[in-house]
Amino acid sequence: MSNLFANYNRISVAFESGLGCWLTDKSGKRYLDFLAGIAVTSLGHSHPRLVSALTEQASRLLHVSNLYEISQQEAAATSLVANCAPGLLDKVFFCNSGAEANECMLKMARRYAHENELPPVVTVFHNGFHGRTLATVSATGTPKYHEGFSPLMPGFLFADFNDLESALACLESSCAVLVEPIQGEGGVLPATVEFLQGLERACQEQNKLLLLDEVQTGIGRTGEWLAAHHYGVRPHAVSLAKGLGGGVPVGAVMARTELAELLGPGSHGTTFGGNPLACAAVLAVLETISEEALLENARAMGQYLREKLSGLPGVSEVRGVGLMLAVVLEGEAGEVVSECFERGLLINAVRPQVLRLVPPLVVSRDDIDQAIDILEGVLCRNSPKKNGAKPLSLT
Ligand SMILES: *Cc1c(COP(=O)(O)O)cnc(C)c1O
Repeated sequence: MSNLFANYNRISVAFESGLGCWLTDKSGKRYLDFLAGIAVTSLGHSHPRLVSALTEQASRLLHVSNLYEISQQEAAATSLVANCAPGLLDKVFFCNSGAEANECMLKMARRYAHENELPPVVTVFHNGFHGRTLATVSATGTPKYHEGFSPLMPGFLFADFNDLESALACLESSCAVLVEPIQGEGGVLPATVEFLQGLERACQEQNKLLLLDEVQTGIGRTGEWLAAHHYGVRPHAVSLAKGLGGGVPVGAVMARTELAELLGPGSHGTTFGGNPLACAAVLAVLETISEEALLENARAMGQYLREKLSGLPGVSEVRGVGLMLAVVLEGEAGEVVSECFERGLLINAVRPQVLRLVPPLVVSRDDIDQAIDILEGVLCRNSPKKNGAKPLSLT
């Protein structure tokens, strides 16, 4: 009997080691990892640069607390700003997860409302996902995550994603809008350019905050440092986490200076946030993405993967950006995920008929060819009408 909470539905496999896009379980069986720990292990497993940055840092200093200066934190912030949003989001707060990063943005929104006599209300979206803490789950537009947790935190208005009219109606009585540029857990649904730019314009006109949840989309996942860059929008703050530490738990908020100043000394904090180990990981991840041209790789391999997926049987749509892709199936996704697992390919389902593929940013053409072979084999079995196994023509 396990001593763990039963809050996760786990597949019965335990991995022992990993290298690049591959994982090995206890029995020695190898798996091609196109899930990357849910869009986290952006450099793949055991990237030598991340391993040496971490071992070197661990051998010197792990943690000192934010009562003191932390040079690794300064360096990680400088690198984040220089890469992601120079001249716009100049200030960084480090925390330990995506939910915590969103909590920080929501607390900034509350202070902003307070200072500017605006309603302490944030517009959020149906089908969105912002985390599992009480505030972020309250901001999450998926009812199953709310079950049994009432009373939820007040101060959120829910609008329809990609429906500007619905969003503007809520924004009227809000101080800010919090939105994922691509809804991830909701099924990998990209915002339209018109929608996100419309939100930006409305926020500008009404002096309200555009807060982007880039926990899943950020740090190269879509082939840009931020998904915001695809849309040409200028947010007031963004939250980051998943891919930021390459597997080390770390989150961050990047904000405009005037917004960051709302959280003065003593107003907010976290014991572990931005400790030397986590920030050594962030620095190594950012440097590796730059030096190994991983944004370019994410764009090129994303395009290649998308084309290959579009040609598979039983696929009705491929959507997403860069290496954040979803495949909408004609049939059930659950079975396909299980059969892929049996054949050594890790992916997951984000909706009953939707597969998600978020491989490491280092993924190669060869990795993709192998993943497609496995997926094609599974889909051919599940949709016999559409594959090459047509009835023999006797003419
Ligand atoms: C995963 C995710 C979160 C929550 O991050 P945690 O690190 O699990 O707290 C928040 N927002 C988005 C868009 C996510 O994908």
